Amino acid sequence: MNKANQVLLKEESRIGADLAAWLSVGGGEGLAAALREPGAVIAQIEQADLRGMGGAGFPTHRKWAPVAAAPDGDKYVICNGNEDEPGTFKDRFLLEHTPHQVIEGALIAAVATRANHVVLYVNPHESRALAVVREAVDQWRQHEHISAIEAWLGVPLSMSVVPSSGLYIGGEETAVIATVEGGFPFPRRKPPFPAQSGVHGVPTIVNNTETLAHLPGILREGASWYRGLGLGAASGTKLYSLSGDVLRPGLYELPMGTSLQELVFEHGAGMLQGKEFKAVFTGGPSNTLLTRSDLDVPLDFDSVRQRQSRLGTGAMIVVSEGTSIVRKVAEYVNFFAQGSCGQCPPCKGGTFQLARVLNRIDTGRGVRADLVALANLCQLLPGSGRCGLIDGAATVVQSSLHHFSHEYKALLMG
Ligand code: SF4
Repeated sequence: MNKANQVLLKEESRIGADLAAWLSVGGGEGLAAALREPGAVIAQIEQADLRGMGGAGFPTHRKWAPVAAAPDGDKYVICNGNEDEPGTFKDRFLLEHTPHQVIEGALIAAVATRANHVVLYVNPHESRALAVVREAVDQWRQHEHISAIEAWLGVPLSMSVVPSSGLYIGGEETAVIATVEGGFPFPRRKPPFPAQSGVHGVPTIVNNTETLAHLPGILREGASWYRGLGLGAASGTKLYSLSGDVLRPGLYELPMGTSLQELVFEHGAGMLQGKEFKAVFTGGPSNTLLTRSDLDVPLDFDSVRQRQSRLGTGAMIVVSEGTSIVRKVAEYVNFFAQGSCGQCPPCKGGTFQLARVLNRIDTGRGVRADLVALANLCQLLPGSGRCGLIDGAATVVQSSLHHFSHEYKALLMG
């Protein structure tokens, strides 16, 4: 993809929420291709090297394969549109502006895995997205492709829209399943993984909204086409939610593997008020910070991992010199402390304690022992909860202590 073809997703989508409009621009062709050769879909996804766009970058075909291999019976495909992390705003855009692309992706997943339940799981705080998706699902229910899917499955296909709890933790995949079952979004330990035991104990796929949105194009144009959209060894494109101290924040679809430098200084038009770039919270505020020496990093899952961080959702919260890292980290850890579901005592107490110490330092009341306490908590907490929330809170604190200890020390009372 050359720069002229890169899509700056700041304007209203021309495709909109009308199914006929989506079909008129090639929509539905990917699903038709999947229906012609359902047994080949997973191999195509593997060749395309499609990764999970919700955080982990896990290969999509590996998530699907065990569900496809499970005996016929009830199976679920869930489109995870909870998205409640600071700095991430890509799924809301997709659900509001290209809902049929997302739904077609979910239907392709259902065809590939012989799943007879498709669930669109949407954050109710995004009321427009929720309304648009409900209408879009109604439009699909009338479409002939649904009869073709039912003929392939041999049973009726159920399509539903389930509002999430709207809580941050409600996006964790086992919490998604608990909510779809009608319960509170309590994460649980894995294994068993959703592919073995998901909604009501049956095989289940939970895919991020953006992951599903890539499927119609891959099935329509082919895996090689998709691979060719990426830079270097990376495959496809990625939505980057760019925010913070940049002149032109927004949602950018760019080749996977675009450098951080290009994202911030070309697409984002550089730093606000001509200030110096200091750092970026990548993939939301739960990962290791990237700093000035990382500006050359290609923004793809593997390259960012090599810098000991994670691409995550593709959210990039940019911080300039003059913005307090301690304050930003305190804000995010407060967010995590409030988002903890409270099932695991180390998380409930640990995130609260992290937030308390950070707030004390940020407001000039910290002492040297507080830095030791933070470092100790960062050693103790990871791995002590049922889900990754506690690990994320500890990671961002540890990373900020590593790179910006001078900022912490400068705020201490003595
Ligand atoms: Fe809940 Fe925290 Fe335990 Fe996750 S780690 S399940 S958010 S208490």
